[in-house]
Amino acid sequence: MTTEQRARQVILKSDAEIDMMRPAGRMVGETLSELGEMLKPGVKLSDLDQYVIDKYARLDITPTFLGYQGFPHTICASVNEEIVHGFATERRLEDGDIISIDLGATINGWVGDSARTFAVGTITSEAQRLLDVTRESLMAGISVARIGVRKGDIGAAIQEVIESAGYGVVRGYVGHGIGRAMHEPPTMPNHGRRGTGMTMRRGMVLALEPMATIGDPATAVLDDGWTVVTADGSLSAHFEHTVALRQDAPAEILTQG
Ligand code: MG
Ligand code: MG
Repeated sequence: MTTEQRARQVILKSDAEIDMMRPAGRMVGETLSELGEMLKPGVKLSDLDQYVIDKYARLDITPTFLGYQGFPHTICASVNEEIVHGFATERRLEDGDIISIDLGATINGWVGDSARTFAVGTITSEAQRLLDVTRESLMAGISVARIGVRKGDIGAAIQEVIESAGYGVVRGYVGHGIGRAMHEPPTMPNHGRRGTGMTMRRGMVLALEPMATIGDPATAVLDDGWTVVTADGSLSAHFEHTVALRQDAPAEILTQG
């Protein structure tokens, strides 16, 4: 086996290791809920980042995203047409915005990763429907994800919920295995064909993370080199959970908030 092949191997976790991932998962879920409570018009994206910086410092938790490949913030904050990897700038939220917050935590060397899209003030019914459908697509993927199913079964379940609502599935950014590293094999696309792709095995821990768009799902990256936006400027939503496959049952969510 070459080094490259070894690097691409799925790292299966024991039950004890999955238990060791729980504190990081819980921290991310709980902190996202707290950030959700802070959202109102006038709040700066950097205020949200600072809240997590302070909390993690107080609890001696490693902010997984800060410095990851040079990423300069502790949260990703992506507003409206921004899909993922947005910067936590001095921008102030406005009534009617939607904001996707993606957050990681590393505790005792294990990583949790989760994202949610929130409404700021009163949003349009179409924006609310996008949030509902994207969340529903994640839950559909999680309910299918279990030992013995194929990668394409999970992607298809996510894709069907998004596309049957008339929305677009972002293809260029995908879910992933997770453990001691935030990004481990395999990649987990949010589309797929049933009965195809890798078979899910006991001990796999995955971050499933559908990104949906009201318009065309083609993407572009802003000049900051990070922020991914819809090419057509349409609204986008993103929901993510870290889930574990440890028994003959639907995947267990580690990042419940
Ligand atoms: Mg994430
Ligand atoms: Mg992720």
